[in-house]
Amino acid sequence: MTVSLPGVAAPRVVVLAGGVGGSKFILGVRAALRRLDAPEATVVVNTGDDLWLSGVRLQPDVDSITYALAGVNDTERGWGRAGDTERVNEELQAWGSGWPWFTLGDLDLGTHLARTGWLREGLTPTQVLARMAERWPLGIRMLPMTDSEVDTHVLLDDGGRLHFQEWWTRHRAQLAPCAFENPGIADALPAPGVTDAIAQADVVLLAPSNPVVSIGPILAVPGMREALHATSARVVGVSPIIGGRVVRGMADVCLTAIGVETSAAAVARHYGARSADGVLDAWLLAEEDAAAAEEVEASGVRAVVAPLWMRDEQTSAAIAEAALRA
Ligand code: GDP
Ligand code: CA
Repeated sequence: MTVSLPGVAAPRVVVLAGGVGGSKFILGVRAALRRLDAPEATVVVNTGDDLWLSGVRLQPDVDSITYALAGVNDTERGWGRAGDTERVNEELQAWGSGWPWFTLGDLDLGTHLARTGWLREGLTPTQVLARMAERWPLGIRMLPMTDSEVDTHVLLDDGGRLHFQEWWTRHRAQLAPCAFENPGIADALPAPGVTDAIAQADVVLLAPSNPVVSIGPILAVPGMREALHATSARVVGVSPIIGGRVVRGMADVCLTAIGVETSAAAVARHYGARSADGVLDAWLLAEEDAAAAEEVEASGVRAVVAPLWMRDEQTSAAIAEAALRA
């Protein structure tokens, strides 16, 4: 099948993305761009989920995307490497190292050790990602949102503060949050290449990732919103909400915490129209949410209704094509 994009034969595409939802979408973007004979997409990935544990640096969203695009991810469990074992993890637990409720697979630990070694040798996170991309031809160029460590913290109603991973994995997002914070982000810069890629893009896509803790930290890096305002690219978002529900995960809790209703229209309003200081030109809504199209358009964002279930690479590619045409 060939597709054509009005005006642009081989679009230069930038995708802003989180982990699991992001990687499903990026698989589709990669397939769609290959059909168009277009250059590889640049993926700007959330690093707010990153953390230090047992002496190694974890980058959950980076690894979800890497493993999925390399085809070595565990599709049944939904995270980590296919066929992984947990021998080292058992030993770490026996030593009382790490978190008893957080499992690190053996193959996964190999990734973390390699990454940590390179960071210790002085490579920047951007350089580490480039190094990692040498092993598997991912078919995309992946950049971290920033080279600074700006791990997401969750501020709790009771005054406590947790690393995002502890809140999400240990507490299953069940402790009432009141806010999310990325300490140090005010002094962070977009990683080298990020704002140039946005400036030179024909289309910037916001993956159907968690709007608060995946896309939120990316947009919070100083200079990112300015880059999205200044680019001549169209900025198109894909709704992670279908029929008023999050498809998977607990993004609804995050949205509620920041006072945004769990609906496709409310998330579009939260991102806002580029014409009104927001970031969106167009918003892909699921067919189940077609009735909200008018509300989205009223906020100055073009609404496009499409099937938004990412069942496999084909359905994700169809979504990517609809987004590229929007
Ligand atoms: P994480 O970093 O692993 O939590 O993943 P992301 O932040 O990239 O994506 C999580 C979001 O993906 C969730 O909020 C889901 O609503 C959304 N999502 C998952 N599967 C689908 C799907 O098939 N279609 C759409 N539209 N959204 C999805
Ligand atoms: Ca994530």
